[in-house]
Amino acid sequence: VRRAVLFVPLAAGLLAAILSFAPEAPRLSSETRTAAEELRRAALSGSRASDWVQSLTDRAGARLAGSEGDRAAVAWALETLRAQGFANVRAEKVTVPVWKRGVETGELTAPHRHTLALTALGGSVPTPPGGIEAEVLEVDSLEMLEAKGAAASGKIVFFNKKMARSRDGSGYGKAVPVRSEGAIRAAKQGAVAVVIRSIGTDNNRLPHTGAMRENPTPDKIPAAALSNPDADLLARLVREGGPVRLRLTLGCRTLPDAESANVLGEVPGGALPEEIVLLGAHLDSWDLGLGALDDGAGCGIVLEAARLIGRLPRRPRRTIRVVFFANEENGLAGGKAYAATHAGELGRHAAAIEADSGTGRPFGFQWNAGTSAGPWLAEVGTLLEPFGANEMKAGGHGGADISRLVTAGVPLFGLFQDATTYFDIHHSANDTLDKIDPESLDRAVAATAVLAYCLADSPEPIERIPAAKRRLPRW
Ligand SMILES: [Zn+2]
Repeated sequence: VRRAVLFVPLAAGLLAAILSFAPEAPRLSSETRTAAEELRRAALSGSRASDWVQSLTDRAGARLAGSEGDRAAVAWALETLRAQGFANVRAEKVTVPVWKRGVETGELTAPHRHTLALTALGGSVPTPPGGIEAEVLEVDSLEMLEAKGAAASGKIVFFNKKMARSRDGSGYGKAVPVRSEGAIRAAKQGAVAVVIRSIGTDNNRLPHTGAMRENPTPDKIPAAALSNPDADLLARLVREGGPVRLRLTLGCRTLPDAESANVLGEVPGGALPEEIVLLGAHLDSWDLGLGALDDGAGCGIVLEAARLIGRLPRRPRRTIRVVFFANEENGLAGGKAYAATHAGELGRHAAAIEADSGTGRPFGFQWNAGTSAGPWLAEVGTLLEPFGANEMKAGGHGGADISRLVTAGVPLFGLFQDATTYFDIHHSANDTLDKIDPESLDRAVAATAVLAYCLADSPEPIERIPAAKRRLPRW
């Protein structure tokens, strides 16, 4: 009896060892692979993604939440999805904050007079009509501001934190806290205004705007971003020792909330139409440029990827749902509204993919799902390898708009693009159509369409994000 008890686990172990050396069964069926290869060929031979970016930006212009451009963008999205034959095209109401830029001027008043290039940060309160003039206190971080204590009182705090250039754009996340939190912290220490070095990697005189976290207290102070060369000048003058003073005039203001919309359209699935693979990008933009890269490019990529899937003779099992999200830039109202409106069907969301990194060449995807998805994704990668888009990087939140779906465990994917020059342009007046690289967008369409098709056509959905990892990102 004892011998038999020993023998069973030994035999099972031996069998497992033999099986682990056996060649793995392919995870994608030949039908799935053939369709994915057809999508890849169609996208790489010249897609319409850049045409969609042109049509959106020429028609709607800048698209800050609640603006006329925002409304025109919603109309563009509805018309375009219908004209391209998408099913269940609809607008879902989203309440958005409305903030309007006004006059904005900056001037160095000591040690000499010089005009500064600056722009208000999103959500900033205005200055009095005559502006605010005060001495500058330079810090490089929120921590350094904290350490200065009462020294910030009565000053204009200058956050001088340089963003590092890199292929994955990771310098952005490291620089953002001074933009989102700087004014709240400086107000607490008695400062009268905040200027930050633009979060951007260029050296031209176009400043970069961006969102701030809403100050929950009544002590709001105006905040603006200086162009990088102006921030350099300010830093040099501070280093010389004498008092450096500047005057800041901002006429921006917050208006009552308005109505905007998430716009949806679908390619219905074959065998499992109630299960969804979401392809998302955000329809809104900042007001300074035309939002061609941020996120016109993403809108063009997901629309074209879904359109190509809809033209295939063989529909994938699951439904492909395109979502153009409202108000990513100024509060994420669209992403939050989608998660709330669709709470009841998030369990049937097999995956979500977001494109929101501009026009750079795609390298692959960042992904967050159960670990068993890894080998499956490696096999999908073999379809992306011919054009170098097969890097599958575990981690990340997929993208701001889809990040809320993490709490339902929806597997999240973010298109991973070359961001080396993206932050030269991002959130500045330079974000215009001429920056779009049509060939890179074609590659991005190919990568997105192939991954979406494989996710939608797999007999079993990939493993969801494990319960212990279903945490919202910090913002
Ligand atoms: Zn964006």
